[in-house]
Amino acid sequence: MPQTRSSHLGPATRAIHGQRQRDAFGSPHMPIYDTTTFAYPDTAALLEVTEGRRRGPLYSRYGLNPTLFALEETLAALEGAEAAWAFSSGMAAISTLFLSHGRRGIVCLGEVYGGTLGLLEQQLPELGIETHFMPEGHDPDTLERLLASGTGLVYLETPTNPTLQLIDIAAVAEQAHRHGALVAVDATFATPINQQSLALGADIVVHSATKYLGGHSDLTAGAVMGPVRLLEPMWRWRQNLGSALSPQIASLLSRSLRTLPLRMQRHEASAQAIAEALLDHPAIDRVLYPGLPSHPGHSLARRQMRGFGGMVTLEIAGGRDAATAVADRLTLFALAPSLGGAESLVTQPCTTSHADLSTEERTRRGISDGMLRLSVGLEDVEDLLADLHQALDPEPGS
Ligand SMILES: *Cc1c(COP(=O)(O)O)cnc(C)c1O
Repeated sequence: MPQTRSSHLGPATRAIHGQRQRDAFGSPHMPIYDTTTFAYPDTAALLEVTEGRRRGPLYSRYGLNPTLFALEETLAALEGAEAAWAFSSGMAAISTLFLSHGRRGIVCLGEVYGGTLGLLEQQLPELGIETHFMPEGHDPDTLERLLASGTGLVYLETPTNPTLQLIDIAAVAEQAHRHGALVAVDATFATPINQQSLALGADIVVHSATKYLGGHSDLTAGAVMGPVRLLEPMWRWRQNLGSALSPQIASLLSRSLRTLPLRMQRHEASAQAIAEALLDHPAIDRVLYPGLPSHPGHSLARRQMRGFGGMVTLEIAGGRDAATAVADRLTLFALAPSLGGAESLVTQPCTTSHADLSTEERTRRGISDGMLRLSVGLEDVEDLLADLHQALDPEPGS
């Protein structure tokens, strides 16, 4: 997808017109090519594709399927990227990124998703890949030391889970690029609507499309966006690991992307309203939301993001048991991991995403046992607020 064509268009237009190719029937939405292989009229035509002179459909495991092409064009347009590859999950995208670009060592800034942490702590070192951690985020001196020793990939999420801290992508990229290192950002929480990570200086962006991009809690997918030069090696890994997205899910995800800008507006208008309404609630010690001026990352969020997202983290007064009781009293917020769907969800990090860490380790990472993470859905915000209020102020005796 040539950047020049779409870079002047707004996100909602890109979400709808990012796909440039039409099939032979002119379908506005690329149909599901439920096909494993594609036939050519003669060997010369086949060689055009297999020898890379023309991008054509060939074999679906390779990702060479028109339904995937259409999705990838839209994903690239949304992110302002030259290219995008779609994967069978966020972890498939992230592991392929590490295998392709992590062999000179990886330094991980700040909090990252549990599966990512597992890869970096356990599996990649088993393969001889060196990994380093800077849980406090971007400390320029420590990073400088690691980059000077030749570490080739800086990896980060922003905003992070569950404390919604921000990392300055431009500052990290400037520092990494001075040493010839690449910067990859997991922008799942931000989405391409709220954060144009490549324009800020990142080299590669990854998403768990299972979350906001899919947006309906009905599909598992991942995506990687960036320049062709950096995506090309990942293509071979995807091909041979067999982790390309299936055409059925690609079609569902393409459909979802058309409403992503609209959905994000609603998610964040409701998240902002909930964060502000609960700010002075006596049952809450702290509300973490990048859209609140009290949030430590607020000024960076204003510079780096176009919107503050749909995730709100509450610190419930009274700690772990009090937070569990609030989570259990909520009725519209379903108690479930994941995020970014139409329906609101709640999780208590100390019982789910961060249950494997000791209380001390969680405290060191700023994750208290009284934390509840809300994924604010698309319901009427008045109903969500009423649900939160009844859970926070139960009737005496109930
Ligand atoms: C969910 C998630 C992942 C993993 O994505 P899957 O699609 O479940 O493989 C990676 N990063 C972040 C930030 C996530 O929230």
